Parts: sequence; structure tokens; C-alpha cells
Amino acid sequence: MNIVILLGAPGSGKGTIAGRLAAEDASMKHVSSGDLLRGAVAKGTEAGVEAKGFMDRGELVPDALIARMIKDVIAETQGDVTMLLDGFPRNVAQAEILAATGAPIRSVVLVDVPDAVIADRIAGRRTCPNCKAGYHVKALPPKVEGVCDRCGAALVIRKDDNPETVKDRLVVYHRETEPLIAYYEGKGLLRRIDGNQGPERNAAAFKAAM
Ligand code: ADP
Ligand code: ZN
Repeated sequence: MNIVILLGAPGSGKGTIAGRLAAEDASMKHVSSGDLLRGAVAKGTEAGVEAKGFMDRGELVPDALIARMIKDVIAETQGDVTMLLDGFPRNVAQAEILAATGAPIRSVVLVDVPDAVIADRIAGRRTCPNCKAGYHVKALPPKVEGVCDRCGAALVIRKDDNPETVKDRLVVYHRETEPLIAYYEGKGLLRRIDGNQGPERNAAAFKAAM
């Protein structure tokens, strides 16, 4: 098992890229911290109950809470698998926790998108609550409006995708997560791609960079 970390702002398209690569290559496994947390919230587990308020406000959940979930997934991922780690680590403390697991990090790819583009992207974002597929009303519409192409479930707008909370999430990104760029640059692991090329070409650029 080895890990490729996807770095980027909320709405940068990390999840879409990772989802595409994992769908076309069985040796890749997409692990999204946000999906793990939303799953826990939906199930009403202890961790989910604790996480919900932070998530609704656009804040980070406590490091220990998300780190435990990620460690569990790492422990159960064996063999010749590349884990596309999306949304974790999100600050330097989490990066240190990940380093301490000893899991080998192959590369860290920054999906670069200007803040001005982010707001538009998130405003049009729709997600499938069932299979986690991501859509955009203009850039990546489903074949039938409001319905998931893959599984037929009704698409939803995430609770934290309202403009006010998005602003707060971007502030958190710049303050907490952006320092990871220098952190991984210092370890010689960082690569960058332009995340503003459309879903298809973003995924191809990512694949070439990782
Ligand atoms: P996005 O990348 O669009 O912000 P995510 O689905 O990755 O969305 O995350 C949604 C929310 O889940 C975050 O705003 C945060 O509250 C929580 N979250 C996800 N990953 C982490 C993490 N590594 N550490 C702390 N909180 C996290
Ligand atoms: Zn679906």
C-alpha cells in the first residue's frame, strides 16, 4: 500500500479527480475524510454526533477524531493498492499523525484553483448521498436533472455548501491547510497541477503528476 495525498481548497475538485481515477483503476482506492465523516453523521455514531456541529459551521473537526478513522482505513488497506487520500491531512498536526503511522507517502499533489472560481463551483455542486458521486449543474451535469447517473438516487446540496459557510471554509483552508504546501515541499513530495482545466483533463494531469 502507498498513499497519494490530494491537497487543495474546498471545491478544488479533489474528490472528483480521485473518484474518476478509482473508478477506472481497481488498484486505486479513494478515501475521502469528508465522506467518512458524513457517513458517521448519517449513522449517528458517537464520532458522528461529535463531528456534526464542526462540519455544519465549516470548521475542522478535532484532529484525534478524524485521525482515528483514517488510521482504521489504513490498517484495513493491504496489498498492492494506491490510496488516494482526499481531505486528510488538513493541518500540520494531522500530517505528523499520518507520518507517525509509517504508511509510505508516494506524492502529494496540489490541485490549484483560484478562490474566485471556488465560490461558483460550490454554488453549483450537487452530490449523491448514496454513492458519493459529485456533479455540477453547469460544469458536470447529470444526464437527468437531480438524479445520479450511477445509482439513480436523488442528488442533494450539502449543508455546508451555502455561501456563508463556504467563505469560512476558505479562511480555514488558507490558515490551517495551506501550510502543508511548504511542509511537503520541504520533504520533496509536492507536485502541482492546474485544477481549472475541466474534470477530464484535471484527472489526466493528476495521474501524470502522482
Ligand atoms: P471540502 O473539501 O469541500 O471542504 P470535505 O468533504 O473534505 O469538503 O470536508 C467537509 C467537512 O468535514 C470540513 O469542512 C470539516 O468540517 C470536516 N473535515 C473533513 N476532513 C477533515 C480533516 N482532515 N480534519 C478536520 N475536519 C475535517
Ligand atoms: Zn449515486
